[in-house]
Order: sequence, then C-alpha cells, then structure tokens
Amino acid sequence: MMRLPKFRYHAPRTVAEAAAILHGDGPQAMVVAGGTDLYPNMKRRHQVPKTLVGLRKIERLRGVKGGSARGLWVGPATTLTELEEDGQIRRHYPGLFQAIHSISTPILRNMGTIGGNICLDTRCNYYDQNYEWRRAINFCMKCDGDTCWVAPGSDICLAVSSSDTAPVLCAYGARVHLVSKKGERTIEAKELYKRDGIHYLTKRPDEILTGITLPPAARWRSSYRKLRRREAFDFPVLGVAACVRFEGDVVADARLWLGAVSMAPVQATQAETALAGRPLTEESIEEAARLAYPLAKPVDNTDFGVRWRKEMTRQFIREALLEIRTR
Ligand SMILES: Cc1cc2nc3c(=O)[nH]c(=O)nc-3n(C[C@H](O)[C@H](O)[C@H](O)COP(=O)(O)OP(=O)(O)OC[C@H]3O[C@@H](n4cnc5c(N)ncnc54)[C@H](O)[C@@H]3O)c2cc1C
Repeated sequence: MMRLPKFRYHAPRTVAEAAAILHGDGPQAMVVAGGTDLYPNMKRRHQVPKTLVGLRKIERLRGVKGGSARGLWVGPATTLTELEEDGQIRRHYPGLFQAIHSISTPILRNMGTIGGNICLDTRCNYYDQNYEWRRAINFCMKCDGDTCWVAPGSDICLAVSSSDTAPVLCAYGARVHLVSKKGERTIEAKELYKRDGIHYLTKRPDEILTGITLPPAARWRSSYRKLRRREAFDFPVLGVAACVRFEGDVVADARLWLGAVSMAPVQATQAETALAGRPLTEESIEEAARLAYPLAKPVDNTDFGVRWRKEMTRQFIREALLEIRTR
C-alpha cells in the first residue's frame, strides 16, 4: 500500500489567509483542492509538501456567476460534477462541457475541481510510477534524477500536458485570475502554460488561482474531441479543442488548440487563418486538418504509438470541425 507522507493541513476560510500561509511557508507549501491529482502524486513521492493549504472552505472560490451573453465567472474550487450539471455550460459552452464530462470518472469528478484540472501536473510513463520503480531506473529529470528517459539528449523534460480543459479554455480565450500576498494579476489561459514538463505553469508556487472568466458565448460554437484507450476513463493522449464564430455562413474567427501532444497546449494558428473568411466546408476543414496536424509532435511517453496519435490528430480535427458545422 502506498501511504501519504506526513504534512500539516490548513483549512483557511479566506483567500488572504491562504495566500499568507503560502507566503510564510514558501516552496514547502502547496495548495490542494480535490486532491485527485496531488494526493496520488504525494503517495508516489513526486511532491512532498510539508504544508497543504486546502481550498474547500473558501466559499468565494466556488460557483458559476454571470450568463452566456456577458460571459461566465467560474470559481476554481467548483467541482467538475457541479460544472457538468450547470445548464449554461452545457448549452452555451459545449466544448468545455465535453472536456469536463470526459475527465476521469463520476466519483473523481465529484472531488476534482476545474482549478486542479487547469494546474494538473504533466504526465510521463517514466514519472507516473511509484518511488521504487523510479529508483530502479535512477529516477528521471522531472523528479529526483537528471536524465529524460524518453529523449536522453534532451535539455528539457518532455512530460505531457494532460489536462482536458486546458486546450478548451485556451481556445475560448478564457482568462485566469491569480492572487498572492504580493498582489493580483489576470492573464489569458494560454499564457499560463509553458513548454517545459517540469515548470509547466507560469503561475508562481505562492499564487492561488482564484477565478476563470469565459468570454460571451454569443455566436461561438465549440467542440472537444479526446483520444484515450478506455472510453470509461483515461487521461487524454490527444485532445482537439475547436471554437468557431460565424457571421452568417462565414467563419469570422476560428480557434484550434491541440492538447496532450506536447508539454503545453498547442495553438494551430495557420489552420485558424485558413478557416477564417469563408464558409466551413469539407474543403476548408480538410485544409485546416492538413495544416494543423504536423504541430502534434507526440513522443513515446504516454499510451499508443506515436505515428497513430499523430494521424488521429488529423482525423479528430476533422471530427471537431464537422461537429461544429452541425451545431
Ligand atoms: C484515475 C484518474 C483518472 C484521471 N483522468 C483524468 C482525465 O481523463 N483528464 C484529466 O484532465 N484529468 C484526469 N485526472 C486528474 C484529476 O482527477 C483532474 O485533473 C482533476 O480535475 C484535478 O482536480 P483536483 O481538484 O483534484 O486537483 P488537486 O489534486 O487538488 O490539485 C492538482 C494541482 O493543482 C494545484 N491547484 C489546485 N487548485 C488550485 C488553485 N485554485 N490555485 C492554484 N493551484 C491549484 C495543486 O496544488 C496541484 O498542483 C485523473 C485522475 C485520476 C486519479
């Protein structure tokens, strides 16, 4: 049986109190929301924080406010189940609904939060193992070792961004609010991620994610397609998020993001440009898929063969855009 290491647990009731604890305890402290990612990681000794700051008692971090016309504010400590059952998200942000609905299992979605999903640790076959397994290979660059076993010549860790909501939030142009003892800032969701499997967030360890804002849904249609071995539950090994805004029959704006094929979500800008200014036809969809799929550069550190994952990128872009056409 894998046991949690010892830690001190704080349950603050305000963001200010939580920020003060993080500031005071420094890098030894971490935030925990639902714990569905962090606790298994702690059992495998990936992270061994001396202090955990639980967010469950901070009311201000929960719930959904606003409307599809003005945009939504989503509290990061809102559970995935609560968001899955939210009528506005289901009706007006279907791509986000699809992503949330596809995360793990109903029981884990009852505990897991959107904030935890946004900050989810990157994943790799050489990392997501227990301590003894990792010690047997002399550890890896992401934790306790020096070598990236997927690409031993690599200077950076290639662990994969495996959050289902990350590419969707980037595609919507969502913004995230961060608070620390030093102040507050708001950045675009896409600015939160870095192509580095170890330092995969631009968020500092003392910063708490306190809100996510989604822009107005008007005239945007969205879709999310996910590749995984088991439909019942599994992390993505490819995610395709598409958002398209129409003016009449013509695509006024298109956003296409790929998840789980790199250390951060990847924007397919050339494909976005190719889609804009004309109707969404089979030809334009085919062109977008052709332009976007080379950006998927999966390496052999998750499930399925690399070539097939890459080829499925092309197929899933087609499927996501075709779904948008019928919405
Ligand atoms: C069997 C299994 C299957 C899974 N399948 C999927 C899947 O298919 N897709 C997927 O995306 N995920 C999957 N997950 C991962 C996880 O369940 C979800 O990502 C979940 O949303 C994480 O949320 P949490 O609240 O439990 O995060 P936690 O475990 O509490 O936290 C995760 C990370 O986020 C940080 N964090 C959390 N909230 C905040 C905040 N407000 N501010 C700053 N930092 C914060 C924590 O410090 C930690 O680093 C799976 C997990 C398991 C165990």
